[in-house]
Amino acid sequence: MAVWGGEETYLLDRATQVPVVHSVAFGYPDFDEWYDVATGVAEGHIYGRNTNPTVAVFEEKVRLLEGGAAATSASTGMAAISNMLHALLRPGSRVVSVKDTYGGTSLLFTEFLPAFGIECELVDTTDTEATEAAIEQGCDLLYLETPTNPTLKVLDLPRLIKAGHAAGAPVVVDNTFATPINQLPLAMGADLVVHSATKFLGGHADALGGVVVGDADLVKKVFQYREINGATLDPMAAYLLLRGMKTLDLRVRQQARTAMAVATFLEGHDRVTQVNYPGLASHPQHDIAAAQMTGFGGMLSFAIDGGLDAVKAFLPHMNMAHRAANLGAVETTIGPPATTSHVECTPEEREALGIPEGLVRYSAGIEDTDDLLADLAQALDS
Ligand SMILES: *Cc1c(COP(=O)(O)O)cnc(C)c1O
Repeated sequence: MAVWGGEETYLLDRATQVPVVHSVAFGYPDFDEWYDVATGVAEGHIYGRNTNPTVAVFEEKVRLLEGGAAATSASTGMAAISNMLHALLRPGSRVVSVKDTYGGTSLLFTEFLPAFGIECELVDTTDTEATEAAIEQGCDLLYLETPTNPTLKVLDLPRLIKAGHAAGAPVVVDNTFATPINQLPLAMGADLVVHSATKFLGGHADALGGVVVGDADLVKKVFQYREINGATLDPMAAYLLLRGMKTLDLRVRQQARTAMAVATFLEGHDRVTQVNYPGLASHPQHDIAAAQMTGFGGMLSFAIDGGLDAVKAFLPHMNMAHRAANLGAVETTIGPPATTSHVECTPEEREALGIPEGLVRYSAGIEDTDDLLADLAQALDS
């Protein structure tokens, strides 16, 4: 699916690769045909803010990989998430989610949605009973993210999806960290999956994008809002994401192999006080992760003895890692939450989320595993 999915839909002049269609509008000399496409009676494209052939192939490939009925894209992951929330919620709606969602998503819940009269209750991320209790008090949308950023907490998806449905709420899962290679929330009953395609799906840190996949009626509502909101995925970005996705399976498997080796190495290092990786037997939700994931992913985080000062001393010694706010790329990328995922928070807020100031987020790339282990070892020694 990653290699061939959706690819043969729009090939031109015997090309073997999907074309990048840089056209704002699509012309129809025949009035009746134009009218049918414009009114949705016939398939086709009218205007680039709404749909585009290259973008449609990207949506189709993600739809196949996640096993959804429909998919729609957006200019970034945050555009996909915020368009989805604005399309499905109304003043008076109540959202239940967890404290550890991605920093931008968390700001929607704490600042922007409440301003529109939407109640957002954020429960302790790994307290399943508390989440179920919050859902029982009324829930119009259950929003989950697992594993979480940056502490790799794992939510019990089948159990929470069941609780959400018992309350009549659609359940949305941010599957950015796991990718469809390692976790299929729709197969577990979730109604929608959202992605920052910027991360693992694209995998090359050269294009921003987002996507919403799942139930056809819900996806249609998101699409209808997004085409008016205007946060459209650019065809060139769609092409880069598509090209990246062809190697998704190879990349993600190698990244997970390396992440497991790195986590194991760090767990035995005397300057490392904490390692967060769902693949480790010591991870508090390891059993849940093993039950609902087919791989543990390429993301981990670890705390260095000595706090932020130790992190500042350590980071410059890394030779084989971008020190950047990205993740999921072919190059290893590291950074402290203070400058990446939780830059919007104060140190006290980070502490309350269980994010020590000495934490480093590590996104394993596709480099040779032994090279990466050696690089980490020498940087920690330095
Ligand atoms: C990066 C990220 C987002 C936001 O995606 P953008 O493409 O940066 O807008 C959402 N969720 C998770 C888990 C992320 O890592």
